[in-house]
Amino acid sequence: MSEANQGAVRELSHFIDGRRAAGASGRFNDVFDPAQGRVAARVPVANAAEVAAAVAAAKAAFPAWSETAPLKRARLMFKFKELLEAHSDELAELITRDHGKLFSDAKGEVVRGIEIVEFACGIPNLLKTDFTDQISGGIDNWNLRQPLGVAAGVTPFNFPMVVPCWMFVMAAACGNTFVLKPSERTPSASIRLAELFIEAGFPKGVFNVVHGDKSVVDALIEHPDVAAISVVGSTPVAEYIYSESAKRGKRVQALGSAKNHLVVMPDADLDQAVDALIASSYGSAGERCMATSVAVAVGRIGDELIERLAPRVRSLRIGGGMEPDLDMGPLISAAHRAKVLGYINAGVAAGARLVVDGRGHRVPGHEEGFFLGGSLFDDVRPEMSIYREEIFGPVLSVVRVPDLASAIALVNAHELGNCVSLFTSDGGAARAFSRQIHIGMVGINVPSPVPPAWHSFGGWKRSLFGDHHAYGEEAVRFYTHYKSVMQRWPDSIAKGAEFAMPVAQ
Ligand code: NAD
Repeated sequence: MSEANQGAVRELSHFIDGRRAAGASGRFNDVFDPAQGRVAARVPVANAAEVAAAVAAAKAAFPAWSETAPLKRARLMFKFKELLEAHSDELAELITRDHGKLFSDAKGEVVRGIEIVEFACGIPNLLKTDFTDQISGGIDNWNLRQPLGVAAGVTPFNFPMVVPCWMFVMAAACGNTFVLKPSERTPSASIRLAELFIEAGFPKGVFNVVHGDKSVVDALIEHPDVAAISVVGSTPVAEYIYSESAKRGKRVQALGSAKNHLVVMPDADLDQAVDALIASSYGSAGERCMATSVAVAVGRIGDELIERLAPRVRSLRIGGGMEPDLDMGPLISAAHRAKVLGYINAGVAAGARLVVDGRGHRVPGHEEGFFLGGSLFDDVRPEMSIYREEIFGPVLSVVRVPDLASAIALVNAHELGNCVSLFTSDGGAARAFSRQIHIGMVGINVPSPVPPAWHSFGGWKRSLFGDHHAYGEEAVRFYTHYKSVMQRWPDSIAKGAEFAMPVAQ
């Protein structure tokens, strides 16, 4: 029976130097089953000694790992990919049990995580650099990309597998060792990932997991042996980790909150636009950083858009994530449900029109679960908190504007800039939009445009602090030092005859 199936309250562990390590601090956080509203597990909070042990394990593993040929690292990644595929249902179930998202959605997350590993299998090619023959008489110049040392990662609750994979998989492929601090609300998948990593043959200490909250993050920021930190979370946390780590000379990439718009032009295919809005606003109960939170209705399209959206929102199928044929599950916690409810109340108080009210939604058999129905607001204005702030729940706001220029100005004025979409049949409008919009990821007739593993992921403005986006070639840049080497050799060094086909050593 998988760990997730056990009925009793599970006690989770850290993963340090190749094995599980029970928490020694005596401090724990509760991990809830959001569909039932009950405590399903307890996760330890690491103390300073446990964080130091994880960093020490990573530091000890670094010299040999960084000298391991990239081709050999790639072969271990192939093995890891096979293990992830073999255990994909188990991983998806762990994700669903902790997070509440639908099992089908969790399976999609596992696939996106595996895609990062597939990309990392190409690391020998990705680490190839430039060479200039004869920059001057007898002198050549080339570049190296060398690993940084011990890197750390801090991840959010909403993607317990894929966001850690953005970090530790790419860091390790580049020759770094890693300490992950997963979300204390969805910690289970990270431990299984660490076990499978070891089973694939990676040396102990290359990937470590320590659980906890701010105290653990602060210990990683303050640790002199941590060279780089990647964080994905809310903007205040991302900005805090960015500035505190940069102050200590660490390399940082910090991805923050989102408030994503989907602009619907009057010439859009409305069937497609409505399908896109329903899936991207309410999928995973709106708890995705690529979820649509604002529909911008341009010109005369507003009334028809609301007419078509309202019945679809009312008929969303909501229940426990392991049940079949549903559209969305619960929210992550009682506190987060209360926060989303607070935003809906604030929207009503500010004068927005609540066309569909999900506040009273009940799911039979899940009376204690953290559920909300889908909510839909019309006549939302930019000064309202439901427009300005990230809600991170199943709430869609419709803002009406007269033309494309107003839509672009509205989106560009928002302080967050993760992703945006435009639905139109006009190629010229699409081209102008994608060039003029101040947002990191743009979809044309595509909602939630998450780039594949071989492109890179990241927002603009207060959705990202630092220079590098996540995964893809941006991750290779982030997780390596760039070095220039210039050499002149008056005589070549004779190596002797080699008769066997040379292979990586
Ligand atoms: P969060 O900011 O509460 O927590 C993120 C991580 O930071 C967790 O591991 C948490 O333990 C840690 N943390 C929390 N408070 C901290 C503090 N004061 N100091 C240091 N560390 C702290 O985010 P969350 O609720 O887990 O995740 C949802 C948020 O993440 C949303 O804002 C969402 O938009 C964002 N997110 C962004 C992206 C992206 O790619 N931009 C992707 C996924 C999620």
